[in-house]
Amino acid sequence: MTDKDVSKLIEKTPLLNKIKQNEEVFWKNTMRMPAEEATAETDYSKDDIRDAKERLERFAPFIELAYPETSDLKGIIESPVSEISEMKKYLDETLNEEVPGRLWLKRDDLLPISGTIKARGAIYEVLKHAETLALEHGYLKDTNEDYAVFASDRVKKFFSGFNITVGTTGNLGISVGTMGRQLGFDVTVHMSVEAKGWKKEYLKNIGVEVIEHDTDFSKAVEKGRAQSDADPKSYFVDDEHSVDLFLGYTVGGFRMKEQVEKAGIKVDSDHPLFVYLPCGIGGSPGGVTFGLKQAFGDNVHCFFAEPTKMPSMMIGLMTQQYDALSVFDFGLGGSTVADGLAVPRTSGLVSKIMQTFFSGGYTLKDEHFKALLSQLYTSEGIFLEPAAVAGIIGAHRLIQSKDGQSYIEENKLKDKMKQATHLAWATGGSMVPAKDREAFLFDAKNYSL
Ligand SMILES: *Cc1c(COP(=O)(O)O)cnc(C)c1O
Repeated sequence: MTDKDVSKLIEKTPLLNKIKQNEEVFWKNTMRMPAEEATAETDYSKDDIRDAKERLERFAPFIELAYPETSDLKGIIESPVSEISEMKKYLDETLNEEVPGRLWLKRDDLLPISGTIKARGAIYEVLKHAETLALEHGYLKDTNEDYAVFASDRVKKFFSGFNITVGTTGNLGISVGTMGRQLGFDVTVHMSVEAKGWKKEYLKNIGVEVIEHDTDFSKAVEKGRAQSDADPKSYFVDDEHSVDLFLGYTVGGFRMKEQVEKAGIKVDSDHPLFVYLPCGIGGSPGGVTFGLKQAFGDNVHCFFAEPTKMPSMMIGLMTQQYDALSVFDFGLGGSTVADGLAVPRTSGLVSKIMQTFFSGGYTLKDEHFKALLSQLYTSEGIFLEPAAVAGIIGAHRLIQSKDGQSYIEENKLKDKMKQATHLAWATGGSMVPAKDREAFLFDAKNYSL
């Protein structure tokens, strides 16, 4: 994209000026459609979510065998929700705004096996690939067999002749690497420059080949894809284009219906649900949103959250240029404390689908990621990794911004806000080693909202 093209885009959409200045913004998506109409325009439906959900259920006996910590949920990889009223009280006082409704946290930081939201999409894709190979080569006769067979040495030995490759800022590699190695695959992970040292160490220790790049995420993916494509026995988990990753994430949103009912949270036309999701390339917030929309229809309102330095989904949707432009075109980029969200170019697949689903999005400066991380620990005793805290301030951003207020009015939500539930999706944190955790907390305590 030339400077002239960028200037034209900014002329059309003045909010881009603020984005270019590295300022925090809240953006309302005017192209959103009713959930049913939006779904009809995609290639996907509830049936695809059910198919993915059933595949995960078939694998549950294997998961339970391989990871005994999943036995409470019988091999289903799921996380709890909990209310964070102390944190809400702090935000209300500090930001001078008593936000109506209650604030909850979805604890994907506690997901078993890999402790981040990636455990949903990435593990699903690895399992699906394993199932496909096993069916093709006669290790499974059909999908009615007992999938505990995947824990056998015979199947592991077979998979050791195949490679799985992925490009990542860190967490996708952890999920693909952990499940890939458990099944016996040879795994290669291409790490971008922001990947944390402990993530590389972790992967090396479980026998993953780690290739370190001194370039950004998009370039690491490119390298990984090229190397994998050259090898017929290698399978590439493609964060930029994978439908299976997307479908794996949708199951998490879809399952919320049952979970909120059990938690006593009412969601209907008088009780709106607002969900705030940290966004990197868009696969996890997009997939979860698609699932939520199939579960709750128009009673759920989904917003994505990005770092001011890497608002790739926001610029992609605002300009409707999707993956045709990157944050570098706006002079942004560079390092951010939210390493899991450090993606300069959004997913073309996901952003195009989400244009009619997301209610909007907002951006956060690094200092605010740090302040939220520190305060959540003080208020609730919960430690999250920086990327994962982005959703916690979403309700306040919605209420305190002009675009947020106009969203509430347009959707006739004003009188219903007192009965609203706000849910911040916490996307990771439990795997951060104690030393790194202490360093984060020590640094973060100097920042405020
Ligand atoms: C990857 C990641 C996200 C964002 O998911 P995308 O699919 O890249 O949008 C959010 N939080 C954490 C902790 C992550 O690792």
